[in-house]
Amino acid sequence: MAIHDSKSQRLFVDTPLAGETRLVCDGSQANYLLNVLRMKAGGTVLLFNGRDGEWLARIDDVRKRDCVLVVETLSRPQAAGPDIVYLFAPLKHTRLDYMVQKATEMGVSRLQPVITHRTIADRVNLERMRANAVEAAEQCGILSVPMVSAAIKLSHALDRWEDGRTLLFCDESAPAGSAVADLATIPKGPTALLVGPEGGFDEQERADVLSRPFVRPLSLGPRIMRADTAAVAALALINGTIGAGW
Ligand code: SAH
Repeated sequence: MAIHDSKSQRLFVDTPLAGETRLVCDGSQANYLLNVLRMKAGGTVLLFNGRDGEWLARIDDVRKRDCVLVVETLSRPQAAGPDIVYLFAPLKHTRLDYMVQKATEMGVSRLQPVITHRTIADRVNLERMRANAVEAAEQCGILSVPMVSAAIKLSHALDRWEDGRTLLFCDESAPAGSAVADLATIPKGPTALLVGPEGGFDEQERADVLSRPFVRPLSLGPRIMRADTAAVAALALINGTIGAGW
């Protein structure tokens, strides 16, 4: 992975980035730069939009509530990140925030909430998920912000599964073996990870998941973890094994 400048302030912007572009910075981003960090004209920040790499930009035309960011040089080119979709039964509030932040830090490309039989959270706030993903990407030098998809039923996600994508199923009832050895046998290419809700999967649902040809069950060891812990453990294992070249 390219070394990134971890001292400079990084900002996500939703506009195209190229040399000499002038962007108006206002609202909460301007407030943060000008009032919280007390940055002045001539100061520099790093900008990324998830598509055009990371750019050094200089602050100009400072006014009370806005400034201009003049895009100067490319500091890191956009790299194709891991192709891993994270399917998860949504949790409530702060634990969902945590899960989204950690999954972003570990490089997932898409966040897909799935409603399972024992899912407790009834509404999923996609805006809040997106804001958490952006903040984690800003802080951790990530160049791609994961896509945030609307919640769908788990069975629908499985019925319309994309050809060639392997689904690693975090199955708390799978016999505990070596997750590292299991992951060594996973086909290279597009991957997905499924983590269940606090109550786990019910028997019928588990049988349905296991019957799909693209599914590989994964045990994370003999102890049952909370869903947010299981997600972090599974993504760390994936990053350290099949994800090493991503
Ligand atoms: N209430 C359930 C546990 C659910 S834990 C029970 O007691 O059986 C929440 C989710 O985390 C599970 O659905 C699974 O996807 C994942 N998980 C937790 N511990 C795991 C383990 N040791 N191996 C694989 N997945 C695990």
